[in-house]
Amino acid sequence: MLRNGVITVIRRRPAIRYSAILRAVLLLGLMGWAHVVWAGSLTVQHARLWTAPDHTRLVLDLSGPVDYRVFRLKSPERIVVDMRQTSLHTRLDGLVRKGSVLAAIRHGKSKEGTLRLVMDVKEKVRPRSFLLKPMHGKPYRLVVDLMRQKKMRPVVVTARVRVHARKRIIIAVDAGHGGEDPGATGPHGVKEKNVTLAVAKRLAREINAQPGMRAVLIRKGDYFVPLKRRVQLARKAKADLIISIHADSVRQRSVSGASVYTMSEKGASDHVAAMLARKENASDAIGGVRPGEVRDPLVSRILADLVKRDSLNSAELLADEMLKHIRRIGPIKYSVPKHARFVVLGAPEIPSVLVELDYISNPRRERLLRSPRHQKQLATALFQASKAFLRQQGRLPSPRRKARLSIPGASKS
Ligand SMILES: [Zn+2]
Repeated sequence: MLRNGVITVIRRRPAIRYSAILRAVLLLGLMGWAHVVWAGSLTVQHARLWTAPDHTRLVLDLSGPVDYRVFRLKSPERIVVDMRQTSLHTRLDGLVRKGSVLAAIRHGKSKEGTLRLVMDVKEKVRPRSFLLKPMHGKPYRLVVDLMRQKKMRPVVVTARVRVHARKRIIIAVDAGHGGEDPGATGPHGVKEKNVTLAVAKRLAREINAQPGMRAVLIRKGDYFVPLKRRVQLARKAKADLIISIHADSVRQRSVSGASVYTMSEKGASDHVAAMLARKENASDAIGGVRPGEVRDPLVSRILADLVKRDSLNSAELLADEMLKHIRRIGPIKYSVPKHARFVVLGAPEIPSVLVELDYISNPRRERLLRSPRHQKQLATALFQASKAFLRQQGRLPSPRRKARLSIPGASKS
């Protein structure tokens, strides 16, 4: 910040002021002469690579707003990123991993000071790039997406058991955050995005083991999916329910317990819920969404929708069941469902809930959230709650009724 401030001062006000000199001297000590005399020079401080089913995303942390261009070269297929007056202050080796469309990444620098990154790609990709301004503690970031040309099928987990007669119940399981957006981080470094994915996968497994039910994992790996895209994917899969999985965080480390949220027409049920929605909705800004990337007119005109009201009531019942089942395995932070405007709950026609499994900021709970055994218990609780809800809705047969039918004359319980 200080450095950007100084650069701005030097550029815009040639008349050197006392405070500017002082800051420049301070900077000389910190960074060395070259950086200061060359006011236009920028640095790439970190580089990260995230692989999604339909694209690979390269993210570069920068010391300022870079002047850049991205283009494609053919035979062999390469994507080139040129950044003017930029130096590389990080290593690029180790970035390329299996499963990515990227085969290798190289860099070089021109006499004029342009940093060039060359990415060798295994197949024809369409580059897409945008610059993100500093926000939520992240610096300027240049995002380069290598979009795969092949039409990717939506991320669907195939059910092992097929039921023909009745329409299968489809549950969209959304693991919060991912890729650039780690979500909350616990005191021992456990990241929310990893916990949510682990629980989501376990939940999907349980759903798929149930005849007549199928899970759709909205996120399958460590990459970011924009919030509205999550809703679109659930819709595309014709989901009957959406369960968005998260873990909460708060400064006070002793706080623990789960909470469940549903969409609200009127706004947040209280200040805490509003704050949480703001925090979760910031995911797009952190994860990196290009302006206008996701268009969804339906989400923007959701008010006064009868279908929605019905799904809101249903979501409330589902949330109640979630709390009831999670309570059996751990503490609950709020005993009733809360409401707020979460973008990810924006499918008007699908009952949707957002579950904060626990507080990852509590070291004891953080350890549990990381443990496979506890993750399994949480997934089972969410699954049982979903089944109880579906039974209430008449979508799943009640086991009790079945028992009565099979044992004639059995007494009422
Ligand atoms: Zn979250």
